Amino acid sequence: MIESDIAKRSFAAAVKPGRFSDSPLERLVTSHDLAPMPKVACLAFKMMPDVVVRPKEPEEVAEIVRIANSWDWPVTPRGAASWGFGGAVPNKGGVTVDLASMDRIIGLDVERGIVRVQPGVVWLRLDEWLNRRGYFVPYYPSSAPGATVGGWISTGGVGVGSYKYGTARDNVRSLQVVLPSGQMINTAHLLDGRHPSQFDLTCLFVGAEGSLGIVTTIDLQVYPKPESFVPTTYSFPDMDHVFNALVQISQARLKPYHVAFVDGNYFRFLRAMGREAIETGGVVNLVFEGPKAKVDEEIRYFDALMTAMGGVRMSDEVAQHEWKERSYELRSKKLGTGAVIGEALVPVDKALLVTHDMLKLVRKMKMNVSVMGYLIDRSTVAFLPFYLTDERRWIKALSSLSFVKKFLDISNKYGGRGVGLGLFMANNIYKMRDRNTIELLKKIKETIDPEGRINGGKTTMLQLRYGIKVGPRLFRFGMNALALLKRLYPRDRYDRPVPGGFTGGEHE
Ligand SMILES: Cc1cc2nc3c(=O)[nH]c(=O)nc-3n(C[C@H](O)[C@H](O)[C@H](O)COP(=O)(O)OP(=O)(O)OC[C@H]3O[C@@H](n4cnc5c(N)ncnc54)[C@H](O)[C@@H]3O)c2cc1C
Repeated sequence: MIESDIAKRSFAAAVKPGRFSDSPLERLVTSHDLAPMPKVACLAFKMMPDVVVRPKEPEEVAEIVRIANSWDWPVTPRGAASWGFGGAVPNKGGVTVDLASMDRIIGLDVERGIVRVQPGVVWLRLDEWLNRRGYFVPYYPSSAPGATVGGWISTGGVGVGSYKYGTARDNVRSLQVVLPSGQMINTAHLLDGRHPSQFDLTCLFVGAEGSLGIVTTIDLQVYPKPESFVPTTYSFPDMDHVFNALVQISQARLKPYHVAFVDGNYFRFLRAMGREAIETGGVVNLVFEGPKAKVDEEIRYFDALMTAMGGVRMSDEVAQHEWKERSYELRSKKLGTGAVIGEALVPVDKALLVTHDMLKLVRKMKMNVSVMGYLIDRSTVAFLPFYLTDERRWIKALSSLSFVKKFLDISNKYGGRGVGLGLFMANNIYKMRDRNTIELLKKIKETIDPEGRINGGKTTMLQLRYGIKVGPRLFRFGMNALALLKRLYPRDRYDRPVPGGFTGGEHE
């Protein structure tokens, strides 16, 4: 029996029957994430894992990592793969640990207001479970219907409700982690609560993108369900008005629960798909929650503010619809075969400048882009542009990827930064941190994971399938070349299938 067969048998033995697979189909399914990558990317990365395992318990995860160590196999932790930077995709094959299978809600500690979950629990399910007990999680990614708790925490976790309740970092109380050695640790003392004492390691693993270990249990802060919950929607003539309104909201005396915006192109895309959608230059969605009297006061206050900023309040029906749609931002991806989403944090007072520069880039690269986002605190906007793509036209799809890099450069220019490094954007770390800090981060990775076992060759460096490292200069050169290539193509069109043919559209 050859070595790899013996290794596979060991992995199969580490999990319960039916929770191991080396079938081509399962490996194919786990060889990509949200971002549709053209097949040609396989020349650079071995994106197909050799095996996929679906553990149920932390001890099984520890055993899988120990086996990977003994056979020198790379390990890739994977949640719902709804992140688009390749973090959950292997770059050198090996074993993919599909943590969606660890989906148990372990219990609620009412006294401390903490829920304990396994990493594969999906946000929406957790919220529904808590609602039935009089609680809610007010912070989550807008991909909540599919994204896992472990995945969001590992990517740093900003999202719906961060404006009032903070990010993952503010709400994770403790983690159990399987280290690359196969040892298990707890990152904080159970009694640390909101005021962690000595050596709380939680922050080290929140946002580490699975590069320092595999999160196997999570303690999260939860809150009593609010008495009143009211979404509102304001329509504006254009994005200049939208961003001016956001600046005013961020400086306001009161604080909504959630503040989100969507540009007019998003609704144009929906109309091109044949859906009903409002005509607008852009909308701001303000959501309020809390005691009823307080919510009423906040609505009155912000209604006056939004009207003064040129906003028109839409009907409650539209507002409810917008709130329900918060998790389906990429509906229009059906116009292509997929959508690629970029994400940056931008100072709120610079968001308008970022938009103007981004629109210049969109024109240069002849693309169709929509932008949406939300405030995550009083000074920061999460800015999420997305474009439609068709990876079957692989040269064009590949060249379009440079848009994300170029957009992140624009954000950096105005004091912003990208959210997420993963595999494809790993070199962006050089735009986010100074050299000394990067050296320290690399040392931390080397100390905890000397063999680069778990998500090696990602996050702090970009490594290809044969262990070839790609530095920031080569990466920049490659991206610039791709951007130039994209400009040689005719302007992007979005098409929707109709009986007997296609109709196409363009937007300015
Ligand atoms: C429509 C849409 C809306 C989105 N909205 C938001 C948003 O509001 N805010 C936001 O932050 N992101 C958002 N995202 C991006 C993405 O959905 C989130 O980051 C999501 O939380 C990732 O969870 P996941 O389970 O899909 O993780 P995956 O994509 O599977 O994994 C993400 C990373 O975490 C690692 N990982 C996964 N599980 C573990 C674990 N248990 N232990 C260690 N490492 C692990 C993986 O290796 C990978 O590097 C959105 C995406 C889409 C498609």
